[in-house]
Amino acid sequence: MSIIVQKFGGTSVANAEKIHRAARRAIKTKLEGHQVVMVVSAMGHTTDELVALAKEVSKNPPKREMDMLLTTGEQVSISLVAMAIHAAGHEAISFTGGQVGMITDEAHTKARIHSIDGSRIKKHLDEGKIAIVAGFQGVTPDGAITTLGRGGSDTTAVALAAALKADSCEIYTDVDGVYSADPRSVPLARKLDQITYDEMLELASLGAGVMHSRSMEFGKKYNVPIHVRSSLTDTKGTMIVAETKGMEDIVVRGVTLKRDLATVVLQGVPNKPGIASRIFAQIAKHNIIVDDIIQNVYGQGGEASIGFSTTTDDAKEAVTICRELAKEISIKDITVDDSVAKVSIVGTGMKTHTGVAAKMFTALSEARINIKHISTSEIVISVIVDEKDGETALRTLHTAFELDKND
Ligand code: ADP
Ligand code: ASP
Ligand code: MG
Repeated sequence: MSIIVQKFGGTSVANAEKIHRAARRAIKTKLEGHQVVMVVSAMGHTTDELVALAKEVSKNPPKREMDMLLTTGEQVSISLVAMAIHAAGHEAISFTGGQVGMITDEAHTKARIHSIDGSRIKKHLDEGKIAIVAGFQGVTPDGAITTLGRGGSDTTAVALAAALKADSCEIYTDVDGVYSADPRSVPLARKLDQITYDEMLELASLGAGVMHSRSMEFGKKYNVPIHVRSSLTDTKGTMIVAETKGMEDIVVRGVTLKRDLATVVLQGVPNKPGIASRIFAQIAKHNIIVDDIIQNVYGQGGEASIGFSTTTDDAKEAVTICRELAKEISIKDITVDDSVAKVSIVGTGMKTHTGVAAKMFTALSEARINIKHISTSEIVISVIVDEKDGETALRTLHTAFELDKND
């Protein structure tokens, strides 16, 4: 029998009425002859509220305890959704991440899934129940509760869909699909009918909060058809797939803005082999995710500045680590700029088109936006700009690459 995984984000289970609506959708799918697994997030802004509460109690809460706290949000939703299904006369059973054998590594607050025991859920599906799984959480092999990083319920859903060999994974959210830019910042953004895993992975890691970037790694690896759509309507949303029609022709599929970014630069470090490796080994050891690496060599070449961009939160920890490191290697100064943003253009067609970067830089210069740093990969060009210029840069590029227009 076909299996469908349906994920409901926070706004889609924000109150009792929405919980009933989500329950009705799952029941309808079951009555159509499918086995249904629901993955749910914490209600509304619960996770934000729990984060704020933790910060009231402690400036630097232990990550293990943050995970213990934040996972309670999803536990509230799974039980309520199960109750709503029971109230409608159908059978349902809720599970925490640990109960479905969602095993992760030990990186508290941003753990990665190692394995999932699909058989535990399958047994209940075969008994005719709707299974409801808490998003965003897992357990370490030792039983410690972990979370997958903010927005991680998408990853729970796609990973479960892969483990259960589901026919599709439906992501129900508060927008009716993936847009060419965040519709909240770019009113002229257009809904995309299709997008590739690679493009969605890049957009998500560069700030498009509609999907958790790690979910795309599972989507791509296991070829899970993903449908991002609205929980309020029945309109077709966006399909995330391996290949789309004429994908090489679409130069830029979307633009993103990543806020809450900081650059940390170590000035005057010796320009010799081994220094970069020591710095980044320490950073990696603390699970700090480095965005871009920026290196400049001074004057005669004896000294360099080595820097990187990371989230403003991680930047604080990174500075502490670099100060420690300064006791072992010569670092003349550590500078932090925490008012930067990264604006990116993403599209598979970039591989086969020329002049894309030139067009991007011209558009930004015409908008009088100063570029602080540039980075590129096969299907992405990103620039770091002052945070205050971020929104303008986003809209400027959206227009420059004609994303405002209908297909
Ligand atoms: P959920 O709680 O359902 O997981 P999220 O808030 O995580 O929902 O994601 C949906 C939000 O993502 C939208 O409200 C939208 O503002 C934002 N978003 C950012 N970039 C995009 C984009 N390119 N397309 C659609 N939505 C986007
Ligand atoms: N509740 C978690 C968060 O707000 C996970 C999710 O919504 O995907 O980040
Ligand atoms: Mg989300």
